[in-house]
Amino acid sequence: ALAERLESAWKTLRGQDKISESNVQEALREVRRALLEADVNLQVVKDFVAEVQTKALGEEVVAGVRPDQQFIKLVYDELVSVMGETNIPLAEASPAPTVILMAGLQGTGKTTATAKLALHLRKENRSTLLVATDVYRPAAIDQLVTLGKQIEVPVFELGKDADPVEIARQGVERARAEGINTVIIDTAGRLQIDQNMMSELARIKETIQPHETLLVVDAMTGQEAASLTRTFHDQIGITGAILTKMDGDTRGGAALSVRRISGQPIKFIGVGEKVDALQPFYPDRMASRILGMGDVLTLVEKAQEAVDLADAEKMQEKILSAKFDFTDFLKQTRLLKNMGSLGGIMKLIPGMNKLSNEQLQQGETQLKRAESMINSMTPEERKDPDLLAGSPGRRRRIARGAGYAESDVAKLVADFQKMRSLMQQLGQGQLPMPGMFGGG
Ligand code: GDP
Ligand code: MG
Repeated sequence: ALAERLESAWKTLRGQDKISESNVQEALREVRRALLEADVNLQVVKDFVAEVQTKALGEEVVAGVRPDQQFIKLVYDELVSVMGETNIPLAEASPAPTVILMAGLQGTGKTTATAKLALHLRKENRSTLLVATDVYRPAAIDQLVTLGKQIEVPVFELGKDADPVEIARQGVERARAEGINTVIIDTAGRLQIDQNMMSELARIKETIQPHETLLVVDAMTGQEAASLTRTFHDQIGITGAILTKMDGDTRGGAALSVRRISGQPIKFIGVGEKVDALQPFYPDRMASRILGMGDVLTLVEKAQEAVDLADAEKMQEKILSAKFDFTDFLKQTRLLKNMGSLGGIMKLIPGMNKLSNEQLQQGETQLKRAESMINSMTPEERKDPDLLAGSPGRRRRIARGAGYAESDVAKLVADFQKMRSLMQQLGQGQLPMPGMFGGG
């Protein structure tokens, strides 16, 4: 079809009909930089980018989209996909209780997250029991007890001389006996990973057989999040993660690292010190945040719009046939506007790339005028421009509605008819399109 011929001519002109290493060089660099700035682990960045690149190479470029833009869009989509597409809720065991084990280094926000989760679950009408097993820090038990009081959730503890494994075991027993829906075991952490801590955690896990083992990761950890996750996942086995301190200025790259390395979903993010500062994790929001709100995301949005414009291809067929009417014209105009300047678009069309800037600007002004006049037309009139050609009364009514003179409407109709016949000629293979918007 002619539409295809035009398209392939355009592609050849630009030599960019497929994503290749050379036409996405710049975009690749930008993506890498964005991910590193977001504190995604270096190795994770390398692997991720290489994978997306392999997937993308040779991919057909959507008409009207630049290969680099399309590539960035692919990266964004892949990022969302890698992080799991949707939010994964907490497990709920049947019969109750659901047992959740909290794991992580000291100071990452385990105890806070324990209380946050309880509050979250209460909103889902799930009762909870919190279990304090951090017997190492003097204030740790009190901290959980205080938080429990604050949110009116019971806390199970056996004092600081008890064995953490035993506390956990009895805590779960208590929850079962009392018909509590979910029991959350808060645990001790060390500033650094050490073997005692890991083996204690492993023993707790072994004893209570939790349905969820959530790794609590401080989002500010940055690069380190990767090795941390690996250690915990290898030695304990996690089923998900909570990314805390997302209210800081981090872009949250740790999310990607944690997900890639453990294969387990991030379930929540912590966004403040207060007990209600917990949000479900949404991959698309995190992908936007990781890529940054700046240049890269703008490119993604542009690409998205351009993909939308590809729908306009179908319209092209219509343009080149006699079926094109004022409604199509309006649709087309709006699509063009979404893409930015008309000039940029017209230059992509073979035969139209010789228009001067002045001509293009004039064209843009004319399009605006045309749009407001078309808005004043009835559906019937939009469908059949001949109705207008034959009726000064209709033209006057439209002119009044749009705030123009009757002669302006007459000219629009005449231009439209001329354009349509030119389009039809073009459709029969007679290039080029002379001065479509040239103001004549
Ligand atoms: P734990 O040692 O892992 O139990 O960590 P804590 O729950 O005691 O939290 C350590 C510190 O981090 C406390 O001062 C918390 O208030 C703070 N914190 C926890 N989660 C968040 C969060 O999402 N945002 C902010 N800004 N601070 C948090
Ligand atoms: Mg704690």
